[in-house]
Amino acid sequence: MNSRRIFLRRAGLSGLALSLPLSQTLAAMESQKDDKILRVAIMGLGSYGSRVAEAMVNSKRAKLVGLVSGTPSKVETWKQKYGIPDKNCYNYENFDQIKNNPDIDAVYVITPNSLHKPYSIRVAKAGKHVICEKPMALNAAEGREMVAACKTAGVHLLVGYRMHFEAKTMEVVRQQRAGEFGKTLFFQGLSGFIIGDPTQWRLNYELAGGGSMMDIGIYSINGARYMLGEEPIWVTAQEVKTDPVKFKEGVDETITFQMGFPSGAVASCLSTYALNNLDKFYLNGTKGFAEMQPSTGYGPIKAWTNKGPIEAEHVTHQTTQMDEMAAIILDGKKPMIPVDGEEGLKDLVIVDAIYEAMKTGKKIKLA
Ligand code: NDP
Repeated sequence: MNSRRIFLRRAGLSGLALSLPLSQTLAAMESQKDDKILRVAIMGLGSYGSRVAEAMVNSKRAKLVGLVSGTPSKVETWKQKYGIPDKNCYNYENFDQIKNNPDIDAVYVITPNSLHKPYSIRVAKAGKHVICEKPMALNAAEGREMVAACKTAGVHLLVGYRMHFEAKTMEVVRQQRAGEFGKTLFFQGLSGFIIGDPTQWRLNYELAGGGSMMDIGIYSINGARYMLGEEPIWVTAQEVKTDPVKFKEGVDETITFQMGFPSGAVASCLSTYALNNLDKFYLNGTKGFAEMQPSTGYGPIKAWTNKGPIEAEHVTHQTTQMDEMAAIILDGKKPMIPVDGEEGLKDLVIVDAIYEAMKTGKKIKLA
């Protein structure tokens, strides 16, 4: 077999391509989809969208190929910076047309929280895979609609739970599952920062759907679940508000909450927009403990157990996340800690219960 034929066969081109002149064949290859690369459009070119875009430059499996934005000036800058063609740029009115664009596989929704559900469902209806930021939606009812829409459309729904791929987190989880801490009966999660600008969308109930719990407290909810490896069966919660002007009705400033698990384990957590230096997970079992601080920030994460420090190379979380999400979507890989819509929904069920417990003062049963 001549070398051109071998080359074409390795490139996976058809008999038709073999009958074309070499120049046309190479052009056909150019436009051919690389099944190993997830071609992603980012929706919402804000602070976190910028971070994800930068991180994707170093991803081996995901490539930024498209944009959805309401701000033309940002689109111009991003187009230049990342070499995005005009035909892959959309706004919030016309992005349904993405269904006619064979060069985009997935849309990463990185908008304010209340837009996650409507935009994710439109992306699914356009036949593209959905990657959605946390919190996946404003409540469990919305989350269920998203899961159903993606199922109907036959597309993946993944949530931007970057910690699920972080090396030290995964090692603590591995040790917990292997019983190295004995029976784990206590988890503490502290999640908070002092929020600035009172006019930002995070303090606007319509766009945020709540306050610190939706934004940062959800890390402690999610962390309790993956660190203990169980689903809670009850929740209690208490609210503290020191600044009712900044934190209006429905926008929580500080919530302490507790969760009980089938094994008898309990979690004691804090979610706040009123204190800095709160990014800590502590897991205690009958034979040992694990502590992580910082536990969910951009890193490097620090983690240690009763046996000593956990060492692992720091890799930009969003780079690993996009590599792994490409493997989930393109290769059917199953992550150790799930990142699918069902996982996002589990957190939302707990968020709903926390708000209910906080308002009623009651212990809310989940099972
Ligand atoms: P930003 O305000 O920085 O960016 C949000 C972007 O959404 C805006 O820049 C805008 O982009 C677009 N947008 C569309 N509609 C609106 C609207 N009505 N009001 C404001 N912006 C709008 O927010 P973040 O990037 O910090 O957060 C976005 C999402 O990412 C949130 O859900 C947040 O929880 C999540 N997040 C996740 C993190 C993680 O570690 N996983 C960390 C930080 C945030 P454009 O102008 O292009 O339309």
